[in-house]
Amino acid sequence: MKNEMYLRLSNVPSNVSVARIAVATFASSLGFSIPDIEEIKVAVSEAISNAILHAYPEGYGEVSVRASAACDGSLVIEVEDTGQGIADVAKAREPGFTTVPDHMGLGFSFMESFMDEVSVDSWPGRGTKVRMVKKRCS
Ligand code: ATP
Ligand code: MG
Repeated sequence: MKNEMYLRLSNVPSNVSVARIAVATFASSLGFSIPDIEEIKVAVSEAISNAILHAYPEGYGEVSVRASAACDGSLVIEVEDTGQGIADVAKAREPGFTTVPDHMGLGFSFMESFMDEVSVDSWPGRGTKVRMVKKRCS
């Protein structure tokens, strides 16, 4: 049977941990190991903090987080915003690239290290969607 979780959050920084805990609990319910869950938590935190910190420079916005179990037991996580988007996704994904002073530019690198698949679609002026997959027994 289909198993899915959907969260819609305001872009306030404290919601990073709300999303992290919710997705970790969902992953735990699917039987992911504790080390895998720790990696999932880091990747989710990075994706959500990007949406919360970068997507809406002008103020209020919403971020959605969808987590679902694929037929093969993989965990699929989609983090989406409707903010300013990313002009050059390939450049944004380079380690060390940041548009914000005092940031390290390592968020996408962490997502790539800890998840089995990371894809980023972005539409300037319309938003960004990050899709990540964690396989079972990776
Ligand atoms: P760190 O994650 O190390 O604190 P960072 O957020 O700048 O720093 P990345 O997470 O790798 O580094 O993101 C790189 C850049 O991509 C960001 O500086 C930002 O310009 C852009 N970016 C990432 N996610 C979004 C988003 N959802 N909306 C708009 N821009 C984004
Ligand atoms: Mg980041």
